[in-house]
Amino acid sequence: MGKPTGFIEHAREVASEASPLVRIGHWKEFATPLTQDKLQVQGSRCMDCGIPFCHTGSLISGMAAGCPVNNLIPEWNDLVYRGQWREALDRLHKTNNFPEFTGRVCPAPCEGSCTVGLKDTPVTIKSIEKAIIDKGFDEGWIKPEPPETRTGKKVAVVGSGPSGLAAAAQLNKAGHWVTVFERADRVGGLLMYGIPNMKLDKKYVQRRVDLLEAEGIAFVTGAHVGVNYPIEKLQEEFDAIVLCGGATKGRDLPIEGRELGGVHLAMEFLSKNTKSLLDSEHADREFISAEGKDVIVIGGGDTGTDCVGTSIRHKCKSVTQFEIMPKSPETRPANNPWPEWPKVLKVDYGQQEAAALQGEDPRTYLINTKKFVGDENGNLKELHTVLIEWQKNDKGAFVPVEVPGSEKVYPAQLVLIAMGFTGPESTVLDQLGVAKDERSNAKADYGKFATNVDGVFAAGDMRRGQSLVVWAINEGRAVAREVDRFLMGSSNLP
Ligand SMILES: Cc1cc2nc3c(=O)[nH]c(=O)nc-3n(C[C@H](O)[C@H](O)[C@H](O)COP(=O)(O)OP(=O)(O)OC[C@H]3O[C@@H](n4cnc5c(N)ncnc54)[C@H](O)[C@@H]3O)c2cc1C
Ligand code: SF4
Repeated sequence: MGKPTGFIEHAREVASEASPLVRIGHWKEFATPLTQDKLQVQGSRCMDCGIPFCHTGSLISGMAAGCPVNNLIPEWNDLVYRGQWREALDRLHKTNNFPEFTGRVCPAPCEGSCTVGLKDTPVTIKSIEKAIIDKGFDEGWIKPEPPETRTGKKVAVVGSGPSGLAAAAQLNKAGHWVTVFERADRVGGLLMYGIPNMKLDKKYVQRRVDLLEAEGIAFVTGAHVGVNYPIEKLQEEFDAIVLCGGATKGRDLPIEGRELGGVHLAMEFLSKNTKSLLDSEHADREFISAEGKDVIVIGGGDTGTDCVGTSIRHKCKSVTQFEIMPKSPETRPANNPWPEWPKVLKVDYGQQEAAALQGEDPRTYLINTKKFVGDENGNLKELHTVLIEWQKNDKGAFVPVEVPGSEKVYPAQLVLIAMGFTGPESTVLDQLGVAKDERSNAKADYGKFATNVDGVFAAGDMRRGQSLVVWAINEGRAVAREVDRFLMGSSNLP
């Protein structure tokens, strides 16, 4: 611990962000990192507490407390404080293959469990992580490191999201020949076609993919395993298969009027937007435009927020976000103590932007959509809603109960359904005969990752359900260890 009094002397400082009204004019990332000097000061705030939780990644009350990839946070905080950036980078890469992704999009459960955060504001861990990796790339310290020897074993990874990429990176390090199959035209999974460009610039995804390719990993795009790439071929050609297909089946809202023009699942909206942006900077018009429309986003989570931010950049007329749950408290309630993940009100970038444009937060809470109503051309015209209360039924379960007289009609020409995900698409699982759990995910125990089919493993959202990039990396690394053990009898992978 470099500076025992750092947390007493210095206040938390984070990266500044372009003002909402400026950044909505473009699709670029909008954070300006702290200077190196300021980051060193922030590193000194880490008190190297006796029992740190920031790096534990343990589940408390069903939520991750601390970093799920067990980043060695106190160690690299100290190295940054001392100006030893290169050593900090080496420490960071020991546990995290892709800090440039987590440093940008991770919700930072580490900061929710930081001991300084018990009484004061937590150490700015995520900004430091991003600064270490960005400096590593800027300084040219990060170079392809192909393995010195090859085992001759061949592994197929199906799906190129963060879990597939992490699995591929680790298996390649162990000397296996790895081929990643991706049905989309670009590699990256939701890093590429889910999370919008202003949160994670796609040039950083491509930079990492290029590096992995230079290390010897083969990527095959446009290969939809089980559809245009036969599963039997995969089984014949490879010694092991790792399924990392994600859990992108969107939860729909099958109410009256669902078939109307202008009612879409969030992922359709977001992925087409990014593809068109990357292909032609939107010149091809191959996306669902929110321009000039009253947009309603159904779902108050992160995907919903991305729809809000994207609609605003399209220059929508108005945007409203519906949330069926009550508003979260502004500070931790007594039943959500440190070091648990703080379940407090988050005002994310999309809500900040909507508030700047419209004068108020776009979210309406405790609201349910009853039906969509269209015009004579079959296009959406309005939404009919009702407010609800959560009440306990006779079995003790909370159920939504409509508030009489609270019905309301919202004009809307575009609705984006962002109500979460129901699980993975089942084509590959069914064709391989992989058993599923009760939530329709691939059934494989955490830590083992082996499915019921010999030589077939599953990891990431396909195994755990829609989650976070950091968990996908955790599972990708861990499944690689198990596959290596399966192929070689033992494994030295961390
Ligand atoms: C809109 C949105 C925003 C998000 N924002 C964040 C965020 O800010 N921070 C965060 O931590 N998490 C975020 N998440 C969650 C995060 O992106 C996921 O948890 C993570 O990407 C899961 O990684 P994965 O590798 O398991 O799967 P995915 O990233 O879903 O990748 C799976 C890949 O497999 C491919 N595939 C599937 N089946 C086949 C097949 N048969 N053949 C070939 N390819 C196949 C798919 O095309 C896809 O590319 C967000 C999710 C969404 C939807
Ligand atoms: S990966 Fe996430 S939880 Fe881990 S140190 Fe980085 S921001 Fe924190």
